[in-house]
Amino acid sequence: MELDASALKSKGFFQQVQKDAYSLRLCTSGGTISTGYLKKAMEIADTYGRGHIHVTTRQQIEIPHIPAANVAAVQQVLTDAKIRTFIGGPRVRTVVACLGAGVCKFGQIETGSLAQAIHDAYFGRELPAKLKIAITGCKNNCAKVEANDIGIRGADRGYLLYFGGCFGRETRVGRPFLPVLKDAGQVLSVLEHTVRFFADHATKGERLGKLIDRMGTEAFQKTLEGALAQAVR
Ligand code: SF4
Repeated sequence: MELDASALKSKGFFQQVQKDAYSLRLCTSGGTISTGYLKKAMEIADTYGRGHIHVTTRQQIEIPHIPAANVAAVQQVLTDAKIRTFIGGPRVRTVVACLGAGVCKFGQIETGSLAQAIHDAYFGRELPAKLKIAITGCKNNCAKVEANDIGIRGADRGYLLYFGGCFGRETRVGRPFLPVLKDAGQVLSVLEHTVRFFADHATKGERLGKLIDRMGTEAFQKTLEGALAQAVR
């Protein structure tokens, strides 16, 4: 039976250059993966793939070389294990994060819990274009936050946010529009208002940086200030 490659892509199975094989991308957030999750991924790679796993540049786990004939069986394994797959397209993507203050001696903010909170609130949300978010614990910037639509970086006394970056066919460096924020609550409020601004105003395929240029930085700045006003109420 011929598989619908386009439908499978939205379920995390990417058709390979070898048309009868798929690479399965799993969903993780913040770069932290439990050993139980890894064991299940290993089991799938051993049973249905070729016994290896690829780690993507955005901290996702990918299992290549799954024969088309085994896709349904793998989907059942994923369902039984309650493992979510990656979702691409015009949506909020998985959050990338460094280890942060919980582990790294340079870290100035806790990154893992923030990544999880953002992932839980936004992962997979439909938008006019993709929206990538990254969190990095300090100015060493291991997570390269300015290359993301929204970047969060630990600073001396809080969180410095960058907006409008991207890295791919087009490259843009994200810009800071706010002073350092004092707490994670303010960050989440700014994030919520930014996602709403993006959902309300972006045209199909228009990334956040282009939208800010088109609408004008003043309009965007006003949205951010509104978010801060609400956060401190
Ligand atoms: S960005 Fe800073 S906190 Fe994060 S891993 Fe790198 S050095 Fe550590």
